[in-house]
Amino acid sequence: MMVNCADPAAQFEAHQKEIEDAVLRVMRSDRYILGPEVEALESEFADYIGTSAAIGVANGTDAIELALRALGVGPGDEVITVSHTAVATVAAIEAAGAIPVLVDIEPEYYSLNPLQLADVLSERTRAIITVHLYGQSSDLDTIQEFCKKHNLALIEDASQAHGAKWEGKRLGTFGDIACFSCYPTKNLGAIGDAGLVTTNDLDLAAKVRALREYGWQTARYISEFPGRNSRLDEVQAAILRVKLKYLDRTNRERIDLAERYRKSLSRISGLVLPKVRKQAGHVYHLFVVQLEKREALIEFLKSNNIYPGIHYPVPVHLQNAYKDRIHCHNEMKTTSTIKDRILSLPLYPGMDAKEQFRVAQSIVEFMLRRGHK
Ligand SMILES: *Cc1c(COP(=O)(O)O)cnc(C)c1O
Repeated sequence: MMVNCADPAAQFEAHQKEIEDAVLRVMRSDRYILGPEVEALESEFADYIGTSAAIGVANGTDAIELALRALGVGPGDEVITVSHTAVATVAAIEAAGAIPVLVDIEPEYYSLNPLQLADVLSERTRAIITVHLYGQSSDLDTIQEFCKKHNLALIEDASQAHGAKWEGKRLGTFGDIACFSCYPTKNLGAIGDAGLVTTNDLDLAAKVRALREYGWQTARYISEFPGRNSRLDEVQAAILRVKLKYLDRTNRERIDLAERYRKSLSRISGLVLPKVRKQAGHVYHLFVVQLEKREALIEFLKSNNIYPGIHYPVPVHLQNAYKDRIHCHNEMKTTSTIKDRILSLPLYPGMDAKEQFRVAQSIVEFMLRRGHK
């Protein structure tokens, strides 16, 4: 049997009847965009995360762009984030007209290295986007403190961390505003594109709501400021409402799968397993290991019909689209080193225990053959 890094269809199969009913309900209604399903999703997601508001948008990239615009960040403003992230984070900063400034990550946790913030701070810095990569929180205490001290807005990119926690509170409640992608493979995934923004600031929420539809605020067809079309459709919202009911359960499955990988792989030298911060509630969007000469392991796994992933093979500051012009810290050691060492093992809700055992055994067999003990 083929094993992929993720299997979003497994979540459809697990709740097929409920999802089909939800989709039919929308098709038989007369509201297809920004209707009662979107409103219900927004209120249920805000309750789940623990914020006063949530706003549905077209995708995660837009969520970040609109969050920046709502904060008034635009041309001439600098926004600090990491290079080791989905290109989307940086693309969204440029879409808002602002200037991305990239920093390195912490070697153990793959998230923004707060020690570099002071080095890249300038009079033009307006905001920090901290990315909770792979399902684990970044160092929120230190980053929040830095933002407060320098009067910067804090945006959480929680696209890989729906339901994850920091000191017992859900991610998406710490920044001035937070952004979630609901791309199909994410912990809360649609069957298409979708995104959500959360905030406790009702003015910001109203601003995002207006920005997603041409700046309409008080009345339809009346634009108070320039906006965009980043509406969420009713079909995706109805599907996400079903998936949200099971999010804690599917996150639990991810955590259990991660624990099983740990048990099978922890004694193998030459393999670095994910580390969890003591304040963090990790939800394992991805289970990322590190090793030398990973290509040989990838080939071996492929020959066994196992297809791991790499998140991400090229950091943003080395991508052709950005490399000659992007502002970044001159010390990007961790980002540059781990890009050739990281490997995302197959892990998803609905993954068969026997299949996971086969993945783990294949890795153990390969590493032992290579001379690791
Ligand atoms: C998926 C993702 C995004 C972008 O989301 P889309 O819905 O694909 O636009 C942004 N940031 C991170 C960290 C992501 O993983």
